[in-house]
Amino acid sequence: MTERTAPVDDVGLVPFGMGLERGLDERSLCTRGIELETLAGLGLPVGAGLTVPVPNVPGFTSPDRAKAAIRLLESMSGRTVGTMTEAGGLVLLRLSASAPVEAAGLPADLVCVGLRGAQVPEGIPVRMAADLALAFWSTASTIAEHSLEVPADDVATLELDFANPADRIAPLLAMCEEKGTGAFPLKASQQVAAGAAAMLARWNSPRAARARRKQNLAPDLPIALHLETVVVTDHDDEGHGHAYSRDLETGQFAPNGAFRHGVRQSGERHAIGHPLSKLPEGVEMLTGVLAELEGRLGTPVIVDFEYGPHGLSLVGLEQMLRPSARVATALVVDLVTRGITDEVHAVEATRPEHVLELLHPQPKLTGNEITLVTGLGASPGAAVGAVALSSEDAVSLAETGAPVILAMAETTPGDLPGMMAAQGILTINGGSASHAAVVARGMGRPAICGASNLRIVDGALVAGDVTVQAGDTISIDGATGTVYVGAVRIEPPKPSPSLTTLLGWADDVRRLGVRANADNGPDADVAMDNGAEGIGLCRTEHQFLGDRLPLVRRVILSHDSDAEEAALAALADAQREDFRELLLAVGDKPVTVRLLDAPMHEFLPSSAEEVEDAHQARMLEQLHEENPMLGVRGVRLALLHEGLYPAQVHGLFNAWVDVVTSEGIHPELEVMIPLVSIPDELVMTLRLIRRVNQEVATKTGVQIPFKIGTMIETPRAALLADRLAQWAEFLSFGTNDLTQLTYGFSRDDVERRMLGTYLEKGLLTASPFAELDDAGVAALMGIAVERARGVRPDIKIGICGEHGGDPSSIAICETLGLDYVSCSPSRIPVARLAAAHAAMAAAHA
Ligand code: PEP
Ligand code: MG
Repeated sequence: MTERTAPVDDVGLVPFGMGLERGLDERSLCTRGIELETLAGLGLPVGAGLTVPVPNVPGFTSPDRAKAAIRLLESMSGRTVGTMTEAGGLVLLRLSASAPVEAAGLPADLVCVGLRGAQVPEGIPVRMAADLALAFWSTASTIAEHSLEVPADDVATLELDFANPADRIAPLLAMCEEKGTGAFPLKASQQVAAGAAAMLARWNSPRAARARRKQNLAPDLPIALHLETVVVTDHDDEGHGHAYSRDLETGQFAPNGAFRHGVRQSGERHAIGHPLSKLPEGVEMLTGVLAELEGRLGTPVIVDFEYGPHGLSLVGLEQMLRPSARVATALVVDLVTRGITDEVHAVEATRPEHVLELLHPQPKLTGNEITLVTGLGASPGAAVGAVALSSEDAVSLAETGAPVILAMAETTPGDLPGMMAAQGILTINGGSASHAAVVARGMGRPAICGASNLRIVDGALVAGDVTVQAGDTISIDGATGTVYVGAVRIEPPKPSPSLTTLLGWADDVRRLGVRANADNGPDADVAMDNGAEGIGLCRTEHQFLGDRLPLVRRVILSHDSDAEEAALAALADAQREDFRELLLAVGDKPVTVRLLDAPMHEFLPSSAEEVEDAHQARMLEQLHEENPMLGVRGVRLALLHEGLYPAQVHGLFNAWVDVVTSEGIHPELEVMIPLVSIPDELVMTLRLIRRVNQEVATKTGVQIPFKIGTMIETPRAALLADRLAQWAEFLSFGTNDLTQLTYGFSRDDVERRMLGTYLEKGLLTASPFAELDDAGVAALMGIAVERARGVRPDIKIGICGEHGGDPSSIAICETLGLDYVSCSPSRIPVARLAAAHAAMAAAHA
């Protein structure tokens, strides 16, 4: 750092506000020098002060240089250091240090330098004398210990021996003569020079250098010094304070802070004072200053100020570079309203993390929490509840009114009742595309998956040597994946008008459509409230979870055609109800209904008690698959049970007629076929569906317009997209399966078993199930898009895998030229913002 600093020996001492014009930057003026430059550069009132730039600091330990600095300050302020003003104030100095970058461990300010004869003047008001003595003690003891090398223990003894700081000063002076390297300096210039030496000694100590190394800072990071005039008075109309531009709770522009009389101490902002609102005209004085600073700097700010009969002067500035989401969004909307920035830049400045922070419950941590385990943050939000280790326990515990966290090795469709009863979900296995993750995101519940250091032993959760019994309370943070022992305070989300405004602006910028993955009316309602433009994926198998599971099971396990027909009729009736509810929520918007994609094992009895008869037991044996995710799933099951999809669309088309005739709405129906890899799979099902469409139209006398499309979930489907597009009117990338099949990674296991090691070894930089793989999976998607559009240029193409809600994946979808992304209802706001960012990036490319 030092080598790169421009030589400034000829510059010497730099009054606040004159450094930039002399060609100096943060490398020599350091952070505080730049703060003051900024304030002065904006024409705001700044106190009299100067910076000793980095290269001049070593020479500043000489009293001659310090004397020159004091003379300069005296001519700038018109005041003589160490003397009383006419109004009864004492003129003193304050010495502080800063580094070229933010750094912890800077030496504390010397707040009271230049006290002549090292004595509090006689005859000054009692309150002022006490304040001065306390401030001077902290300055003098630092000089004694770090410049005159008086042993720290001896200095500390004085604090124990004399409660009153005024009584410690004489013994300290004697101690310097006796145990230090020389007499305590009595002149202002000597005190400044010794103070500078003390600060340098502290900053250059081996301990401080070690601390810097820990912060990844250079151990030889230099410092600049800053010297300012201060006037200490006892007047009630003079004092100092600090002011925030924004209310940190609401985010609104509302100058607030505190003020005090007496000496401005080091670490002042933590000191208790009177609220700023009690300072006559305090808020009025600062409103213009703070608004000006926010407008110029584009960040919320905190200023340190002094006030008196002469008015206001600013002595410090802090830009809040990482404000909370509420503050950041309120600020940027205000800047647009003031004409300082425009909507596009405001959207650009808003981060997906801001959206998550504003829309989901957040844990309020104290730092004293005990972490049980960390997993994959699979669905954002936070929850507290009693541990339930099974779906049944979750339901019965919830019935007692207790909040519940369902903790299991993994979840399956049969666990839906427990998942619905729980406030949050925790699984040991599975990753971001696992059943628990997908369902939790769909329901908007927080979830952590793949907490692989957790075990379930004898009805308890065990991680290392910590055990949490079933029924004990835990807290989960689905954003970070952290599980805490006991209850953590959770802050519910509050409405954010600024975010609503920003998302509206994002909608004006984005090209990609944003739809929702929603399986029922309530989820679709949430999706529409969050701004979805339609449903991009209704997973119909999710309509048969929990106690409706037998409806599908009976179709799969029926022993003769009569039984199968009866089972299919029951299924069609149930579907008509389901779809009516869904279509009502959708209104006139598009809705993509994906026909059943049941990995068969999830729908078959998993224990002997669930088997209804000997026939089912026999069938079960026959249907067993070693690898169900590659087995009779999706369209394959429909071709083995040819009545299945017709029964579903029978329900769908009738439901459409119902809502059209009863409500006058016209949802745009899109029927989607899953897991196609052979074009004829699509052709055969399409024929079945068209036949039912005609039948319902004939029976009801109502034509039912619909589009038919297919998912692209297998590499083969991607490569044959041109042939599929001859039949399909739309395509939707199912990137959960496409990722699974492109890598050959099991979507349910890989994040738990391998991801950590692969990340450590640098083989992967993120889970490909969470962030779309640009090099492989997206390349296949690119081929599919090109081939499909070659056959049918206006074919609508979207994505409905979990990647549809992930900002980096959305950016890839923009580049690929997709028409829309579809994601869980709770991720819609993030997707709207990310789609806008992606459009802006594409425009700049
Ligand atoms: C997919 O595979 O990406 C998809 C959306 O389907 P599912 O997750 O239901 O398999
Ligand atoms: Mg799939």
